[in-house]
Amino acid sequence: MMQTRRVVLLGLPGSGKGTQAPRIAALLRAPLVSVGELLRAEVAVGTGLGVRVGDLMAAGDLVPDELVCSVVLSRLAGEADYVLDGFPRTVAQAEALWASAARPTLALEFVASAAVVARRLRARGRDDDAPDAVDRRLAIYRDECEPVALWFALSDLLECVDG
Ligand code: AMP
Repeated sequence: MMQTRRVVLLGLPGSGKGTQAPRIAALLRAPLVSVGELLRAEVAVGTGLGVRVGDLMAAGDLVPDELVCSVVLSRLAGEADYVLDGFPRTVAQAEALWASAARPTLALEFVASAAVVARRLRARGRDDDAPDAVDRRLAIYRDECEPVALWFALSDLLECVDG
């Protein structure tokens, strides 16, 4: 793990990846890129992108692959190392990252039960932590993001940690 510098963090919303991400980045001395934070900053400033994605995010839906891939891949351009929190969330995103100059070397999946994360998200209280949006995000994780973990497992890059 200490030689590994391009790390993606996978796991349900509320599984602890956002909490652990800065610690992992500090340990590896790699820049932390939180995709949710990047997107929330676009929404807060009201950029064209922010306007397009704000409603999707508030509802707990995923932002379209081509938008999020262009944000993330341009953010990673020129970075030798990184810790990536919140990307890839679809197999198409995983394939785009894999094909880029920033091919990841490790995927860490934070494993936590739906009951535990639902309790944590209720306590957190972001816009997209409202009950309907939480249900939506958990369902999306099952449908779109779990295959990403399998994709990394098949590439022999997946390590699971207790979230
Ligand atoms: P997060 O802070 O990682 O929970 O992300 C908050 C929201 O940003 C998500 O619910 C999505 O609407 C959007 N988002 C973050 N990362 C991605 C991604 N990789 N693909 C699509 N949408 C994303």
